[in-house]
Amino acid sequence: MNKIFKVLLLITIISTILFFYLLYQDQQFKNNPLSQEILSKLENKNNVIRQIIKQKYNINYNIPIIISDKLPNNLYGLASYQQGIIKIQLNKKRFQENENYMIEYVLPHEYAHTLMFYFGKFDKENGGHTKLWQQICFDIGGMKCDRFVNHNDILIEKIGDIY
Ligand SMILES: [Zn+2]
Repeated sequence: MNKIFKVLLLITIISTILFFYLLYQDQQFKNNPLSQEILSKLENKNNVIRQIIKQKYNINYNIPIIISDKLPNNLYGLASYQQGIIKIQLNKKRFQENENYMIEYVLPHEYAHTLMFYFGKFDKENGGHTKLWQQICFDIGGMKCDRFVNHNDILIEKIGDIY
């Protein structure tokens, strides 16, 4: 065999192995819950935000944070108010690309939406990204708090009244 052929063969073999390895990793991610490492980072950030809320607003704020694999791909998170129940869902698929973004940016962003619900502010102007929302987002330690996001990540359902 000449040298070039050997090199090409080697590249092909390595690429094939890499391809199946990545495919395997992707399957592993889809079929398993988030790693303990990610979950504990999320838990820590959640505790920090709750402490800030306690200090700033004097509320013992404890809402469910759900890791969901049923959210549409384009949504990082969703804050919902349904018949008086407030919760946050985070898109599991998005953790695969960037767990820090999910924890440091998306979580405070969604928390700010839920606090708006808690305070009875259901204004849907700019998809709920009002000035007050932004103020709350920064207050609780959010870093980006962009008012001009191009997605709708709040769901408000009052009894018999979906809008
Ligand atoms: Zn939002």
